Parts: sequence; structure tokens; C-alpha cells
Amino acid sequence: MSGAAFLPYGRQDIDAADIASVTEALQSDFLTTGPRVEAFEAAFASAVGAPHAVACANGTAGLHLAMLALGIGPGDWVIAPSVTFLATANCARFVGAEVVFADVDPDTGLMTPGALEEALQRAPGPVRAVLPVHLRGDSADLPGLSRIARSAGAVLVEDAPHALGSEVDFGDGPERIGSGRWSAAATFSFHPVKTIATGEGGMVVTADEALAARLRRLRSHGMERTAGADPWLYEMREPGFNYRLPDILCALGQSQLKRLPAFAARRRELAHRYASRLAPLAPHVRLAVTPPWSRPVLHLLTVLIDFQGLNRPRRQVVEALAADGIGSQVHYIPVHSQPYYVGRYGPLDLPGAAAWYRRCLSLPLFPAMADLDVDRVVLSLARALGLD
Ligand SMILES: *Cc1c(COP(=O)(O)O)cnc(C)c1O
Repeated sequence: MSGAAFLPYGRQDIDAADIASVTEALQSDFLTTGPRVEAFEAAFASAVGAPHAVACANGTAGLHLAMLALGIGPGDWVIAPSVTFLATANCARFVGAEVVFADVDPDTGLMTPGALEEALQRAPGPVRAVLPVHLRGDSADLPGLSRIARSAGAVLVEDAPHALGSEVDFGDGPERIGSGRWSAAATFSFHPVKTIATGEGGMVVTADEALAARLRRLRSHGMERTAGADPWLYEMREPGFNYRLPDILCALGQSQLKRLPAFAARRRELAHRYASRLAPLAPHVRLAVTPPWSRPVLHLLTVLIDFQGLNRPRRQVVEALAADGIGSQVHYIPVHSQPYYVGRYGPLDLPGAAAWYRRCLSLPLFPAMADLDVDRVVLSLARALGLD
């Protein structure tokens, strides 16, 4: 397919309105900590149905802030699914807590209530937080996980960078991911491959006002000002970080957020087209499974491929796609198998995570893709697998 543009597995979509919004910020009085931070936070909170939103430097900083604000630290254990990005587990280590890796369902890639119960039994100490990851944009069983977490004395912190715009319906009507109904907090990321982009950027949302106040303090050195006090006065009761998101990037976030409905609609259309084009490749190639309660805006279009049965190594398929100008990616290498975690906790056998990892491959999905790009990707994949 020479001549056609390279299709990465994901990419940002920046238009003239986005550029104008950033330009306006650059010409304003504030490059950071100005009015655009609160405006972006308010717009984001209303977009996901959250009472409070705290902007921060990136999604990883958001996870770190959530651990700090919840008071998690040495002696505590945190449960994270193994199929996720490194940061989900690492945030526990940032605060001196330890990680128990939960297995995932091999077809959804999500931590299930059963997997959580099994991980709780393996935890050598008190578990304070459970971090479900809404892999690809599909939601984990939040009511089920939250019930089990609560009875173990832990809270949920949703690592939700894949699920901006996603909804769930557990039988009592639709609810947006980030609403805070089942969790203490949820974190988002605005890395360029995510659903909206600010370059680097993140957001923590919560329904808990006191937690939101602590997140805000910790985001900026732990500094607190009291209304009516001397104008230069600030106090610090606990040290925080500089995890602020500058006005320049909040300006981009504001304009990107206005485009979220269009981005979501286009992602849904493209996912629908993938589903119909991929159907003839079953059972060797199947879309990752969406649970019945999930109404995703997919961040990743992940297929599960029987590489072994087809006798086609994944590397060969990735290289054949790349030769056709098509990017792909593996989401994710199970985090429990990373040398750092093997060194810390020893080897661990998580069969669901292993089965997911053996078969997964994410294909291009971003709003600027054309319908015919989907056809081109599926054709190239079928050829690479000998299924054409
Ligand atoms: C992107 C991502 C993060 C980290 O976000 P950054 O903004 O890159 O720091 C954490 N968890 C998951 C599941 C992610 O996809």
C-alpha cells in the first residue's frame, strides 16, 4: 500500500480551534495556574458527571496523588490487574506500599470480582486500595469489585485513561465512568494516544470534597492559603509535589473536551466497522470481548489472535502490517512479569493474563481514520495471517 499515509495505532486530532485556544492562552496573563485550570476542571467534571476534578501533570501523577491523598503508604497493600500500563502498579511503590497483582479475564482483559477475591487471599498484609483498569475503554464490574473491596476494608481507585466518554449500565440506567458512584477516585490521562490530548496531562475526579481538597494541596507543594489571612501567607502541613497542569495545556484540554462527543461518535463508528470486517476471520481472530454492562468509547481496538494455531509468530504479523504502513501495539506485557516485580515478589503464574498477552494485538483506532482505512487494516491482517 505504498502512497497511503502510515496509520499509527492511535494519535491525537488537533484542529484550528485547538490551536486558537492555545494561542489565546499564550497571549494571556497566565501560562500556568490561571483561570483556564479551573475552567478545564469544571468542564471535565461535568463531562464525566463527577462532583470534583483536579487537573494534574499527567495520568501517572494523578495515580500518585490519589495514593497520597488516600493516605496509602508503607505497610499497605494495593491490588492492581497485571494487564495494564506500568504506572497502575508503580503508583503504589511511589508511596512505599506493596502490590498484589490480580489476574484478568482472558477474553476481556479486565480484573473480575473472582480475580479480586483470589488476589485478596494472596495479600500478605492489609489491602487499602484496589485499582481496576478500564482496559481499552470497557468497564470492569464496578459494583462487584466495590462490594468485595469494601468488605476487605479497601477502596476502589479507577485507573480510567482508556475510558473517557465510556458508560456502564448495571441494570439501573446508564452511568458515566468517572461519576464516583463506586470508587473513591478515578484518574484520566491526556497523552496524545488517549481520547483527548494535551500533550502531557491528567485529571483525578472524586465525589469526596475533602479528598479533592487534599489532592489540590498535594498537587502544589502542600501549600494552603486561608481566606482573609495576610496576602503573602501560606502554610504547609504535609509536603506535596509540583504536579500542576499549566494553563497552556488546560486551554488545549478545554477545546479538545468540546470535541469529545464527535471523537466518541467517530470511535464508535470505526469500532463498528472493524467488528463487521473482522467477523469473517473468526474464530482465529476475534475482538476482545465487551462485557454486557459496558457501553465503551474504545480507546484501543484490540483483537485476540490465535497466533499459535495459525503458526504465525506475532512479530512476523506486526512486521507485515508495518510493511503495509500499519502500526500495531501490544497492550500489555503483564506487569507482574517485569524484572522489577519478579525481583520484588518472585515469579507468579496468572493464567488469564498470560492467555490475554499471548493473543492480543491493538490495531489503528483514532478519529481521523477513514472507513476505508479499517478495510485496509483488516485486509492486511488477513494476508499476514494467511486468512485471505
Ligand atoms: C496512559 C496510562 C497511564 C499513564 O498516563 P500518563 O499520562 O502517560 O502518565 C496510566 N494507566 C493507564 C491504564 C494508561 O493507559
